[in-house]
Amino acid sequence: MANTHLDRIVRAQAEMVARDIDVLLLSLGADLPYLTGYEATPMERLTMLVLPARGEATLVIPELEAPRVEEGPFRLEPWKEIQDPVALIAGLIPQVETAAVGDQTWSIFLLRLIEQFPTTNFVSATSVTRPLRIRKDAEEVAALREAGAATDRVVARLADERFSGKTERQLSQRVSQMTIEEGHDLSSFWIVASGPNGASPHHEPGDRVMERGDLVVVDFGGKVRRYGSDCTRTFSIGPPSTEQAEVHEAVRQAQQAATASVKPGVSAESVDQVARRIITESGYGEYFIHRTGHGIGLETHEHPYLVTGNTEVLEPGMCFSVEPGIYLPGRFGVRLEDIVTVTETGVEPLNRADHSLMVVS
Ligand code: ZN
Ligand code: ZN
Ligand code: ZN
Repeated sequence: MANTHLDRIVRAQAEMVARDIDVLLLSLGADLPYLTGYEATPMERLTMLVLPARGEATLVIPELEAPRVEEGPFRLEPWKEIQDPVALIAGLIPQVETAAVGDQTWSIFLLRLIEQFPTTNFVSATSVTRPLRIRKDAEEVAALREAGAATDRVVARLADERFSGKTERQLSQRVSQMTIEEGHDLSSFWIVASGPNGASPHHEPGDRVMERGDLVVVDFGGKVRRYGSDCTRTFSIGPPSTEQAEVHEAVRQAQQAATASVKPGVSAESVDQVARRIITESGYGEYFIHRTGHGIGLETHEHPYLVTGNTEVLEPGMCFSVEPGIYLPGRFGVRLEDIVTVTETGVEPLNRADHSLMVVS
């Protein structure tokens, strides 16, 4: 891994030179573990990687956190409780023209940096890290593949689970537990949206008791070696109505066609359009109220986004969700979601769980 991190730092520095950025400052968020293997603790004490366009990287870190850092291609600069870390950073770099700051850096730290560097132009670090992180290497895809296979096993177990009589919260706890049992290091989210609640894409599982006649949207994921999974299937408690089956079939076809359209050279928005056209032709266009997908990696939502207006061209190694849905307010919702990766010639789905409307008791 040390070589991987060194290689990424070298590539980040090349991006910085190309973009006239003098220094990269990374605190919370996924850019830091991507480049160093270390993830900053979200707290009032500042952790910050200081990476100049040329020269050595320094990780400024609270002294008490330093033992958690594994050796890497950077120098460690622990600061004591009585020291000012921003002054320490100022000592490491001269007044620079342009500094790129990690997107999730707390504003309290950025405000102090702005004060310390009054003539510096601050820009988003995403301009530097996005071109690197958007194409996953073999090791990253392997982790995503493993995470996807683990969610598939959870779906297979859910198909044998009893839904009726349970509350959404009870089922979501089962989903979270199975997410770990099937091989994730941690469980990240566990949406269970039943009946009319299914019309809210990010519904918070609550006390509603599920019953025969409900469709239930289950959307969940976890992390394997820091890389995420994100899978959605829709279940029917007892046989579905004609309309429920019809809506599910429209989503299934949209999901399948959009996935099949993924290959190097097509635009991110074109995949969204494939899904949207099918759902619109089925008469439910106005009820497909979100983009078709989002990139996934160290973060569950990252670039590229499959949304109208994103003309970014797909390249091998990009990994993202394909997740069309139809949401009928006050009635029910259907969503199907797989993670896929772009290969040299086409697409590899990282989820292969049953796409049909699974009937449960
Ligand atoms: Zn979502
Ligand atoms: Zn999801
Ligand atoms: Zn998703």
